[in-house]
Amino acid sequence: MRRPSSSALLLLVPLLTLLTLLLPGPAVADERPADGPPWRWPLGSRQVTADFDLPDGPYRAGHRGVDLPGRAGEPVRSVAVGRVLFSGTVAGVGVVTVEHGAERSTYQPVVRRVVRAGDAVEAGDVLGRLDVAGSHCAGPCLHLGRLAGERYLDPRGRLTGASRFVLVDPDGPLPRPPAGTSGAAGGTGAWSRPVGGPVTSAYGMRVHPVTGVRTLHDGVDLGAACGTPVRAARAGTVRSVGDDGPYGLRVVVEHGQGVETGYAHLSATSVAPGARVTPRTVLGAVGSTGLSTGCHLHFMVTRRGEPVDPLR
Ligand SMILES: [Zn+2]
Ligand SMILES: [Zn+2]
Repeated sequence: MRRPSSSALLLLVPLLTLLTLLLPGPAVADERPADGPPWRWPLGSRQVTADFDLPDGPYRAGHRGVDLPGRAGEPVRSVAVGRVLFSGTVAGVGVVTVEHGAERSTYQPVVRRVVRAGDAVEAGDVLGRLDVAGSHCAGPCLHLGRLAGERYLDPRGRLTGASRFVLVDPDGPLPRPPAGTSGAAGGTGAWSRPVGGPVTSAYGMRVHPVTGVRTLHDGVDLGAACGTPVRAARAGTVRSVGDDGPYGLRVVVEHGQGVETGYAHLSATSVAPGARVTPRTVLGAVGSTGLSTGCHLHFMVTRRGEPVDPLR
């Protein structure tokens, strides 16, 4: 069978991997149940110092893989049986990519690589050695990625024993707890719903159905048809209007005392920065721009930059 592995593709895959490590931006979560072979741990330790974290907003920068602490020069092993798709350097960083059927594992930074593209590998086969240069951790660490096509998945959905035995480094980043659960957001003026639709997804920590990783949903999703007028939730001044990555087309309104509201995934806007608005003012129309799977309003409230539950 002929494989579509041109040299351009071989270079593109790790390059995209590296770029998306460095650039925050939208990514698509896998919501389907995992079905594939379990992965063994590529290093001696079974610790994770930085979790996989698809960005849900600017409060979370995102991390498209997991970081495993290790020792400089330690062997880096293939997580499962497969075929090496790429072994080389991208922007000076040693990268190995192994294909396992529909999914790929990526490893970096890896030096003294002993595999070449096309090599068959077994689970546990040494790919190379852990490098210190090119690490994006404080100390030596392996960034392990998991890809299906262009989708980034959580490697912990495959790593055996991940749910029970992984230790999160106490010095590493922890999931951000819901902020501002203490009640009203402050400021003056009455609040009203920006659209009339039902709440289809509430604010708060939510557990990924497949990986079990907790992330913060930093607003509420209000179900409404595309084109439905979106009104300001409260009197205030428009701070920003424009495309905002995963939020798509978004309007942010200031209400004083550090309180702001955001209206995301809009299909159109009808206000400009600096405009005074009231709860009767139409800011724009419901849409599905940015990281969104269908028309709805992602409505968020922040207090001094921290998200709070809009329903409070
Ligand atoms: Zn990493
Ligand atoms: Zn949302």
